[in-house]
Order: sequence, then C-alpha cells, then structure tokens
Amino acid sequence: MTSFFRRLFNRGEADCAETRELASDYLDDDLAPSRRTAVQSHLDKCGPCRAFVEALSTTIGLLGRLPRASVPASFRQTVMNRIKTDDPRKSG
Ligand SMILES: [Zn+2]
Repeated sequence: MTSFFRRLFNRGEADCAETRELASDYLDDDLAPSRRTAVQSHLDKCGPCRAFVEALSTTIGLLGRLPRASVPASFRQTVMNRIKTDDPRKSG
C-alpha cells in the first residue's frame, strides 16, 4: 500500500485503477488533501471514472437511507467489491 501511494504522490494524479480504488474513501471524505487532489484531477478529465464515482455515490447514498439494521457492513462491502471488480474496460 505504501508503494501504491508513493506512485500516486510522485505523479500527482491518479490513474483509472487508483481512482476506483480510492473512490469510496474519496466519497467518504476520508482522503488526505494531496490524495484527494490526485483523484479530483483525474476525475476532471476522465468521464468513465466520473461516472463510476457517481454510481458509487448513488449506491452509498441509497444504502445510507435504508434502516441500519437491514444493511450489515458486509453487504455494503459486497456491493463495493462488486463495483470495483466490474471493470468496463474488460467487458468491452
Ligand atoms: Zn479514469
């Protein structure tokens, strides 16, 4: 993970994989400013990633509105994993 962030810092901008990896923390406002900027600058010019973050945001928003008891943390994790592994570049 350390090398992951070192690469991110060195370039000053995240690539698609990194943006998707950081998307949930980005939406939770749980990133250091420099990382947040790296994601933001990628989103500014990458439509697919912007759409990905918006879809993720919607998913989190929907889950957040459901009664807490009906949404175990493991369910949210499952959804997140499914989104992360659903790579549009592979399905064409
Ligand atoms: Zn991208």
